[in-house]
Amino acid sequence: MKMWKSAALVLMAVAAAPVLAADCTAEIEGNDAMQFSKATLAVPTSCKQFTVTLKHTGKLPKTAMGHNWVLTKAADMQAVATDGIAAGLPNNYIKTGDARVIAHTKVVGGGESDSVTFDVAKLKAGDSYMYFCSFPGHSAIMKGTLTLAK
Ligand code: ZN
Repeated sequence: MKMWKSAALVLMAVAAAPVLAADCTAEIEGNDAMQFSKATLAVPTSCKQFTVTLKHTGKLPKTAMGHNWVLTKAADMQAVATDGIAAGLPNNYIKTGDARVIAHTKVVGGGESDSVTFDVAKLKAGDSYMYFCSFPGHSAIMKGTLTLAK
């Protein structure tokens, strides 16, 4: 009886934990119509790290309709996207060693997915951040804002 009771308490503690902890993950989808499923993402300041998973729900290959998820300051987005086009698909349309890129996934095609985890400390309150797909021509439509949230 005593053992059963303590086991039940442990189970209750485990079940309660996810409710108390902030959700430090997000999932976003890209499709064959060149769209992201979300226009905004909020990162809780209580998270040490944040993980974004990009899922390509379409069928087209990455050479035709590839998508990635790239995070930069809003002011850097255009230049990073332009430099990414020159970098090409083998480099996931990201200039090698680009310090303006805070985080990025690889380019995925239909049915594929990729995740990236970054330190929330890299984000500063008051700065504006954007995420986008750096596949040539996609960032005009495939973009959104990322904010720090309490
Ligand atoms: Zn794309």
